[in-house]
Amino acid sequence: MQYASTRGHTAAQNFSEILLGGLAPDGGLYLPVSYPQVSGAELDAWRTLSYAELALQVLKKFATDIPEADLKAIADKTYTAKVYCNVRAGEDAAQITPLRVLQDKGGRKLILQALSNGPTLAFKDMAMQLLGNLFEYTLAKNHAELNIFGATSGDTGSAAEYAMRGKKGIRVFMLSPHKKMSAFQTAQMFSLQDPNIFNIAVEGVFDDCQDMVKAVSNDLEFKNRQKIGTVNSINWARVVAQVVYYFRGYLSATTSNDQKVSFTVPSGNFGNICAGHIARMMGLPIDKLVVATNENDVLDEFFRTGIYRVRKSAETWHTTSPSMDISKASNFERFVYDLLGGDAKRLAALFKKVETEGGFDLSGKPGSDGDEFAKVAQFGFESGKSVHADRLHTIRQVEKDYGITVDTHTADGIKVALEHLQEGVPMIVLETALPAKFNETIREALGRDAERPAGFENIESLPQRFAVMSADVEKMKTYIAAYTGL
Ligand SMILES: *Cc1c(COP(=O)(O)O)cnc(C)c1O
Repeated sequence: MQYASTRGHTAAQNFSEILLGGLAPDGGLYLPVSYPQVSGAELDAWRTLSYAELALQVLKKFATDIPEADLKAIADKTYTAKVYCNVRAGEDAAQITPLRVLQDKGGRKLILQALSNGPTLAFKDMAMQLLGNLFEYTLAKNHAELNIFGATSGDTGSAAEYAMRGKKGIRVFMLSPHKKMSAFQTAQMFSLQDPNIFNIAVEGVFDDCQDMVKAVSNDLEFKNRQKIGTVNSINWARVVAQVVYYFRGYLSATTSNDQKVSFTVPSGNFGNICAGHIARMMGLPIDKLVVATNENDVLDEFFRTGIYRVRKSAETWHTTSPSMDISKASNFERFVYDLLGGDAKRLAALFKKVETEGGFDLSGKPGSDGDEFAKVAQFGFESGKSVHADRLHTIRQVEKDYGITVDTHTADGIKVALEHLQEGVPMIVLETALPAKFNETIREALGRDAERPAGFENIESLPQRFAVMSADVEKMKTYIAAYTGL
């Protein structure tokens, strides 16, 4: 399987070659030159597999340059009940992403798929734990080292750090917006004392952090000398790892391949739902892919109007579902590439326009950049939006009706899912975090604390280790070089 940039300028590469990188050299994102297909017979055979076995089957279609026995060892080591142990009472950790039927009346079925049972209590662990093991494997094979440089508004950073802590040949430099994460998230990251983990709190918002990562990544000389890699949501291996749980969710919710399901995905950078799009392109019988946004509704706006208009820092709201607080959706380019039928030249022009004019318009109206919005429905995409009051209401209602507490991001998903629920098509909402991570809002909604999984009781009182820095790219480079000695 070969990969090429969405912007078309690079020579095709294999999975291992793009594993450690981020953006393609031309600023585009990597995609396989064609999507591998899954037959009905394969789907049938996959119904009885364990999660790790299923992960192997999906991975080996994409990572064709890694020997199958090695991939199997990596998948087996990653997807264990021990790693994904933070399940709710009565759920089976061995299922890795257990389903819970919330509602099943009049053919209207609402299901929650738990993706947040890993070490950091958010779905990012699903991919990041695999990435940690893939990185370790590849680096050891090549006697190489890697310095991971990333930005986080909360969940990515902690997932990356917990996946990479103590791993040989790897350092993690993680930027986060100073004082903008929840106390729990901050404690999770900053309490890590592993010498290969560096937490840097940037005075700014998440997008300032992300811009610094882009600026450093665009300095190819520095990037190569410092052996910089990235684990943010554009990393291809992360997307592939996420494809697996769409298959798992589908296979667990159905008994035969002529049934369809829909997914609703609390979305920010479009990484999670991009994996759903890829699963659908591979032939998984997904009906609708529903994008749920919070107040930062750049994606909802596109899927309603065909206009993609990125927001400025000042228009990016700090909300109570903070992992969805984005001004632009970094993985969106992968979908637009498919929407344009793989026209890399037009894609490059549109995303150039994002940089110069702040967006593009595919609505087909006079003066627009194209009419591909009309094709969005063929890809199953729909969208909706949820705001703070909706989150509070949904958290209360879900507790009352279904007897469980959901986090703020999942609440955004459920609110939007209920608006798109169709008779006869089960709707699976991806649970992207556990409520303990966002306790401030659980208190506001329910007047009590969220339950915490064992081992997380006193996390905020642990000693913290981090540096504070202004949003200054040169300073950042000096800091990295000082610690890597490269
Ligand atoms: C990262 C994250 C999201 C958004 O996922 P994307 O892949 O960026 O769309 C939603 N909810 C939670 C809890 C997250 O951590």
